[in-house]
Amino acid sequence: MSIRTKLLIFALSISLIPISIITTLYYFNARSTIERQTLDWLTAVAESKKVHTLSFLDSKKGRVIDFSSDGFIRDSLEAISSSETQSPVVNTLIRHLEVNKKPLDRHITAIAVLDINGNVVASTNKLWLGKDMSKATIFMSCVTKNYGETYIGKSYSVPYLKENCIFISAPLTSRQEHKTMGVIINAYDIAILDEITTKRAGMGESGEALLGMRKGDSVVFLTTLKYAPDMPLSKSVPLNSSGAKPMRLALEGQSGAIIAPDYRNIDVVAAYQYIPEMNWGMVTKIDKREVFALITRLRIFTIILGCISAIVVIAIAIIVSKRVTKPIQKLVEGTKRIASGDLGFKIPTRSKDEIGFLAASFNDMTSQLGESKKQVEDYAQNLEQKVEDKTKEVKHMLVELTYKNKEMEQIIYVTSHDLRSPLLNIQGFSRELQQSFEQVLPVLNESGISPETREKLADALEEDIPDALKFILASSSKMDTLLSGLLRISRMGRVVLAIKQLDMNKLISNIIGTYEYMIKEEKVKVQVGELPSCKGDNAQINQVFSNLLDNALKYLDSDREGIIRISGENKNGHIVYCLEDNGIGIVERQQTKVFEIFHRLNPAGNDVAGEGLGLTIISKILDRHGGKIWIESEPGKGSKFFVSLPA
Ligand code: ADP
Repeated sequence: MSIRTKLLIFALSISLIPISIITTLYYFNARSTIERQTLDWLTAVAESKKVHTLSFLDSKKGRVIDFSSDGFIRDSLEAISSSETQSPVVNTLIRHLEVNKKPLDRHITAIAVLDINGNVVASTNKLWLGKDMSKATIFMSCVTKNYGETYIGKSYSVPYLKENCIFISAPLTSRQEHKTMGVIINAYDIAILDEITTKRAGMGESGEALLGMRKGDSVVFLTTLKYAPDMPLSKSVPLNSSGAKPMRLALEGQSGAIIAPDYRNIDVVAAYQYIPEMNWGMVTKIDKREVFALITRLRIFTIILGCISAIVVIAIAIIVSKRVTKPIQKLVEGTKRIASGDLGFKIPTRSKDEIGFLAASFNDMTSQLGESKKQVEDYAQNLEQKVEDKTKEVKHMLVELTYKNKEMEQIIYVTSHDLRSPLLNIQGFSRELQQSFEQVLPVLNESGISPETREKLADALEEDIPDALKFILASSSKMDTLLSGLLRISRMGRVVLAIKQLDMNKLISNIIGTYEYMIKEEKVKVQVGELPSCKGDNAQINQVFSNLLDNALKYLDSDREGIIRISGENKNGHIVYCLEDNGIGIVERQQTKVFEIFHRLNPAGNDVAGEGLGLTIISKILDRHGGKIWIESEPGKGSKFFVSLPA
C-alpha cells in the first residue's frame, strides 16, 4: 500500500470517525428530545382539551339549570300536570321554549319538558312531543335529583331525533312547594364537541384531537375524525384490534403518552386522558412521521454533511499526501537514477523537513560515492595500464623465453649431436684399446719378463688398466644414452603437430595390441572403458599412452596380480583419461619430481630398465597440446595417471 493511500485512510478515519460519532449521538439525542417534548406537549394539549370539554359541558349544564329555574316553564308544567285535558298552556309553553329559550343557545337541537310520569308534554321538536320517556335513564336518573342538579345522558342516539345528541336534564320543581313536577331535557347535537376537538391550531399537519367512548366491545369516536370525516359515532374500532391503542388506554381509565398505532393503524405520538365524568377518552396525537420529519431531515442533512466532509477530507488528504509524498517520490526517483549509475544526479527537493534532510544526506552520500567511484575508476584505469604493461612485459618475456628455449633446444641439439661423434670415437677407441690390451696381455705374460718386473706390472696389467677401460666404456655408454635422450627431447619441440579428432578407443586398442606379448607374459588384466574422443596429434598422443602403459607394466607389484584400468570422461569441456594400475605406487613427495628429465626413483636399487625420460616426454607433448598430466598414487597400492586433453 502506498504512503498516499495510507495517509488517505488515516485522514479519513481521524476525521470521519468523530464526525459520525458526534452526529449519531446528536441524532439520537435530538430524537429523544423531540419525542419527549412532543409527548409533553401533546399531554398538555390533551389535558387542556379535557378541561375545555368539561367546562363546555358545565356551561351546557348551567344552561339546563337556568331553564329549570324558568318560572314560566315551571308554572306551565304545574298547570299541565294538574289539568286533565290538553290545555292551551301546552302550546304557549312550546312557543315559549321555541321563542325564548332555544335561541339562547345555538347548540341546542331540541328542548323537551317531561311531566312526572316521563311523558313529553312540550317540545321544540314535534317528533319528540307526547313520547313516553319514563323508562329512559335521562328521565329516571334526573327525576330523583334536587333542584339545581343536572344529569348528562350516556346514550346519544334517540330514534325520534335526527342527530345523535347529548342529553342534559334537570328536575323541574313547583315554585311554591319545590316539589318535583317533571324534567327538562336539552338535546345538543353531538357534533358540538367538534368545536373543541377540531381546533387543531399548532398541531401540525397530521395533528388531531378526538373524543371516544366505549360501546360494547368497540371504541366509538364522538367527534368527526380528520382521516374518516363521517358523522360522529359512525366510526368504531374493535377493542381487541391493534388500532386505536391510545383511545383504548384512555377508556381503560389511564392517562399518559405513547407511540402506538391509531384508528388508521398508523403509528402516532399520542397523549390520552380519561374523562371520568363522561366515561369518555380524550386523545391528542400527531403522526410519528411528521414528528420525526425534522429528525429525518437532520439525518439526510447529516449524511450530506458526512459526504461533504468526506469529500473535503479526501481532497485535503490528497493535497497533503501529494505534498508529503512528492518529495518522497523525488527521493525514490533520485535513488533509482543513482542506483542506475548516475552518481552526478542531485535529488531536487527543497522541503525543510526530515525528507529534505534525507535528500540532502543522500546527495552528500552520492557525491562522496561519486568521488570514491572516480578514485576507483582512476585506480582501475591505472591498474588496467599496469596490467597492460605487465602483460606486454610478460609477452615480451615469453617471446624471449621461447626464443631462449628454442636457442637452448638448439644448443642441446647441437651439443648432444656434436658430442656424439667424439663420444663414438672414445667408445670405438676404448673398445679397440680393450681388444689390443687383451691381445697384448698374453704376450707380455709369455715374454721373458723377470718376476720382479711382472710383479711390479701385475696390478696395472691385471686390475687398473682393465677396470679403467671398463669404466670408460660404461661411462661413455651412459653418456651416449643421456645424449640420445637429450636429442629425443630437443627433437620433440621441432615436430609439427597434426591436430585432429582422435578415436581413442581405436588408439588405445592399437597400443594394447603392441604390448600384448608383455601383458600375457606378466599375466596382467587390462580393462578398458568406453573412451570419449579428444583433439590431438595421433602419433604424439599414441606416445603419451604407450609410455604410460609401458610404465604401468614396468612398475607392477610382483606380490599381486596386475590390473590396469583405462577410462575417460568429459569434464567441463575437457576430456580426462585415467590410467590406473595396482603397482608399486609413488610416494607423495616424488609425484611431481618424476616429470623431471632423467629422474628415476631409486635408480640404483631398481632393476627395471629405463632412462627417466618417459614422463618428461609425456608432459612436453601435453604442454604442446594445451593438456595436462597429474598423479594420484599411494605406495604399495597403485597409481592413477590423469591426462586431460581438449575435447
Ligand atoms: P623410466 O620409466 O624410464 O624410468 P619415466 O620418466 O617413465 O622414466 O619414469 C620416471 C620414474 O617414475 C620411474 O623411474 C619410476 O620410478 C616412476 N614411475 C613411472 N611410472 C610409474 C608407475 N606406473 N608406477 C610406479 N612408479 C612409476
